Amino acid sequence: MPNFIFITGGVVSSLGKGLASAALGAILQSRGFKVRLRKLDPYLNVDPGTMSPTQHGEVFVTDDGAETDLDLGHYERFTGVAAKKSDNVTTGQIYSQVIAKERKGEYLGATIQVIPHVTNAIKDFIISDISNEDFVLCEIGGTVGDIESLPFLEAIRQLGNELGREKTCFLHLTLVPFIAAAGELKTKPTQHSVKELQSVGIRPDIVLCRTEEHIPDDQKDKIALFCNIPKQSVIEAMDAESIYDVPLEYNKNGLDKVICDHFKIKPKEPNLKIWLDIKSAIKNPEGEINIAVVGKYTSLIDSYKSLDEALTHGGIFNKTKVKVHWIDSSELEDEKKFNSIFENIHGILVPGGFGERGSEGKILSIKYARENNIPFLGICFGMQMAVIEAARNLTNIPDPGSSEFGIFKSSIVGLLLEWTKGNSIEKRSSKDDLGGSMRLGAYECHISDGTLVKDIYQKNIIFERHRHRYEVNIEFKSELERAGLKFSGMSPDGLLPEIVEHENHPWFIGVQFHPELKSKPFEPHPLFKDFVKAASNFSRLV
Ligand code: GLN
Repeated sequence: MPNFIFITGGVVSSLGKGLASAALGAILQSRGFKVRLRKLDPYLNVDPGTMSPTQHGEVFVTDDGAETDLDLGHYERFTGVAAKKSDNVTTGQIYSQVIAKERKGEYLGATIQVIPHVTNAIKDFIISDISNEDFVLCEIGGTVGDIESLPFLEAIRQLGNELGREKTCFLHLTLVPFIAAAGELKTKPTQHSVKELQSVGIRPDIVLCRTEEHIPDDQKDKIALFCNIPKQSVIEAMDAESIYDVPLEYNKNGLDKVICDHFKIKPKEPNLKIWLDIKSAIKNPEGEINIAVVGKYTSLIDSYKSLDEALTHGGIFNKTKVKVHWIDSSELEDEKKFNSIFENIHGILVPGGFGERGSEGKILSIKYARENNIPFLGICFGMQMAVIEAARNLTNIPDPGSSEFGIFKSSIVGLLLEWTKGNSIEKRSSKDDLGGSMRLGAYECHISDGTLVKDIYQKNIIFERHRHRYEVNIEFKSELERAGLKFSGMSPDGLLPEIVEHENHPWFIGVQFHPELKSKPFEPHPLFKDFVKAASNFSRLV
């Protein structure tokens, strides 16, 4: 059985529990430990797939096709460990499972209750599908005190008791706010939050304190005293310049040491080279570029979390600072204004998206990138719109459109009802539920020789993650190819276009998958490395 670290949060939401868990995973790895990270989400949705991106942020898709919380993206980016379906669960999933079991009569006549049936299902989830990990880090979503979190807190309390203190550690993330009028940091919210946690029977072993200012020693003493923990277990987590500095900060402040002491493990010396290299690349860029991301969820940048990070990774690799300009596509109408809107832009990216609203602005931006030789990357919906743009402006295909928006004479992008996955056939109907019915997870793609993407990937077979319902229709392939749009990557059966590129453009690529989901700061995705490089070269031209 591995060691379990349970991460809870208090005082306010958005403290960055996901990031804290991910960074903790990274420093434990730096000491040679094998880690796994999991997230328990207290909301009632079965998964975040049906939630609005501007409310919940990005939906992170795993290789095995789960639609999960964006924190799993942080976990992968910091540890490189590919997340799985079995790393994220929600109240909705737990209850569906319990109720399905009840309907089958598997509880042998028992009255089904939150304790023990729901809490047992949560505990089973936490300890399932574990191989030889040294540490399993389990983040509980929400804030202590929320009604929804109670069954999860109860389940981890029980596990703490069953597995024993030496196998479990409770880490509580809180806020120590700076009150300008008083000119000092305040520990009271932390005291209250820990009290709240104690009221459900959990005594934290470590209190990790988010703060804008260094926490003076006497304030640490106070937190230790009120929270009933030794002073060295009060760890400061000050706002960092870059999220990738956080593992170094935690190590400096002794978090990994306190954890190893808690579990009575003698750790190896940490090897923090990758984080030091990343820090220095971010701190000392040799150039700067501007990338325009033309999407419609720009009111919440978290809805493009992995994309934002992947661009940063491309920048780290090229020693270039990437400044992202978020442009709301639903406000882009007048092409005459494009010269000024894109004036200092060195690359245009149209990301994934759903629905017709804002699609015209995206299509016009794609046309602008194509005609002005500006490096362009279209992702998922962005690729679909790039194909429609080519059909509209470079061919005589009548009335091209996407069946996602309505009925057109030529459905350049159409609803896919059947496709192959490995050796099996996946089937869908237009009447299916919205949740969980898209083409999801990693699929194989075959890249043709003599293409830009072959140069970039240096491979003919790649696996990338998908999340979409519609596909580019191969019926129009030959006509589009005659107009200069190469279909450079296809599904193994040759039926689904996966990558397109414009022959007569220096760097124009559309991909049906989401490359941003696999990018890491220490292993930037090839498409983002090359996109940033192309944009840097373009910046020298203009
Ligand atoms: N809305 C499009 C589809 O379902 C694209 C989805 C996406 O960009 N992730 O196919």
